[in-house]
Amino acid sequence: MSEQIKNLMLKHEYKIVYKKGKNLKSLLSNNNTKTTLEKNNVVYNISCNDCDAVYAGNTERKLETRVNEHKNALTKSYIPSHVADHAKQTSHNINWDETKISYIENNREARELLEKWDIEKLRQKNIPLINKQF
Ligand SMILES: [Zn+2]
Repeated sequence: MSEQIKNLMLKHEYKIVYKKGKNLKSLLSNNNTKTTLEKNNVVYNISCNDCDAVYAGNTERKLETRVNEHKNALTKSYIPSHVADHAKQTSHNINWDETKISYIENNREARELLEKWDIEKLRQKNIPLINKQF
């Protein structure tokens, strides 16, 4: 890559950051699908408001039902949720309003694969994961 192209890229990147006032995390995530909490059979991302960590999950139920479960887990420790665990352990606030759908897929196996792929993409971007199994 020539020095000229490199500089152009840097400049362009700087412009985007400046213009939109977005942080690097939101620039890197290419799936800016608006939250449709009514949808089911989704792979979804929930981000932390106070650090760069992101959770990737999948559910066959309505996304809203699953998100509410994560929220309820904040106060009810018998509900398992890595998102709630992160919030409790770090005293961070979760950015519930920015819950995003990455994929819609009715087939469970395919959906689980897509979740893994979603996690892999986050790892490649060096975004810390809220998911504990990875
Ligand atoms: Zn956090």
